[in-house]
Amino acid sequence: MTVFVSRSGWGARSARSVSTNITPANGGVTVHYVGSGSVAKQNHDQCAAQVRSIQDYHMDQKGWSDIAYTYLACVHDHVFVGRGPGVRTAANGTTSGNQNWYAVCGLVGDADAIPENLVKAYHSAIARLRGAGGAANRINGHRDHLSTSCPGERLYALVKDGSLDPRRAAVPPWPGIYLKYPPITRHSSVTTWQEQMRTRGYSLTVDGAYGEESKAICVRFQRSKGLAADGIVGQDTWDASWR
Ligand SMILES: [Zn+2]
Ligand SMILES: [Zn+2]
Repeated sequence: MTVFVSRSGWGARSARSVSTNITPANGGVTVHYVGSGSVAKQNHDQCAAQVRSIQDYHMDQKGWSDIAYTYLACVHDHVFVGRGPGVRTAANGTTSGNQNWYAVCGLVGDADAIPENLVKAYHSAIARLRGAGGAANRINGHRDHLSTSCPGERLYALVKDGSLDPRRAAVPPWPGIYLKYPPITRHSSVTTWQEQMRTRGYSLTVDGAYGEESKAICVRFQRSKGLAADGIVGQDTWDASWR
């Protein structure tokens, strides 16, 4: 399961400034890579240093306020938090690109293979941006904003054939929002969870609205799993729903 690495977890420097002027419901998520050659680390121990060096480059050479990306995904199924959900990026190359699209960088170069663990990390990152980040469902590549080789042929092929879409994941990644009541939570991820509860044999309406009925099912499910029965679908209850 994907591990999210917080900014303090990878030793990030503080951002010089933060802009929340982003409207990702009008765009979606843009996919990037690091650059040419082979840059993916064999050992995950080395990934945090790689992310720090990218941040140094962006802040000290490019003069940006912070690392440009929203998230960075490594080949070991870890997602490093860059600017994070709700924050404007500097990575997409155009004003409209940075206004409407998040940016998720794969820690690979064009000579690296794309392992399944990187695809999983992308699923988790994009699910989180669609949930907590309010992104639309579109996924594109840096080259769709302007002329660039980014994100490389291999990663871009997965953008084009839909492989990076979290709806392709065997186990849907937690969307980063809490399904709870009251008030009613309405989100596409509620539908996903309700369908799974139906698959597990619970009788409930699949309507994308987490209300009294969904909460009651959640409490029963949590008790059956020995989880805290608070009636809130957070990450633990979400993940348990597919186990
Ligand atoms: Zn790029
Ligand atoms: Zn790694």
